[in-house]
Amino acid sequence: MTARLLIVGPQGSGKGTQGVRVGEALGVPVVSTGDVFRANVSQGTDLGRQVKSIIDAGDLVPDELTSAVVRDRLSQADAAEGFLLDGYPRNLAQVMHLDEFLEGRDEKLDAVIALVVPREESLARLTARATEQGRADDTEEAIATRLGIYERETAPILSVYGTRGIVDEIDGVGGLDEITARIFAALEARGLRPAR
Ligand code: ADP
Repeated sequence: MTARLLIVGPQGSGKGTQGVRVGEALGVPVVSTGDVFRANVSQGTDLGRQVKSIIDAGDLVPDELTSAVVRDRLSQADAAEGFLLDGYPRNLAQVMHLDEFLEGRDEKLDAVIALVVPREESLARLTARATEQGRADDTEEAIATRLGIYERETAPILSVYGTRGIVDEIDGVGGLDEITARIFAALEARGLRPAR
């Protein structure tokens, strides 16, 4: 079965954790732009050097660069039968880039999982994560920048995908397993079942 999915949610919504669970269950690779950038930063690649200060400040890496990274990744063999995108697209220009790329392959997204978490809850989770993981972009300032970008630039992509009828809004408050179960229920309603 093929499944081409996108998971969207504000910072601290748990989209990374849920994305990995869903990708594993469906047997598709998870493509997280944040993870790709962080790996490049820690390995000190050219790309890593280009994006480090942008990421640390909580700003968006330029669309062209990000879209090129995603096109490369989705062109690898393991993504031929499906993928789960986490963190891309996150603005309207990137939606257009992805549309163009997928159209060229005669593919389209099957579903967009939108995790809904109130701002106070995501802020509390981010603050907790900041102490646990010490991510360079989990400073108070960078968090505010990222949440602002989410509200201004990323949330509007849900209206675009909404008009295509592919958005599943999932309540992101609750236990991890509970939330995973909600996502699977929504995907199953679209005929997308975990391979067990
Ligand atoms: P979060 O969702 O918590 O901000 P991510 O791991 O998804 O964390 O992304 C970390 C950073 O990587 C972002 O703040 C941004 O600098 C960069 N990044 C990730 N995805 C994109 C994207 N689609 N476009 C531009 N920059 C991105």
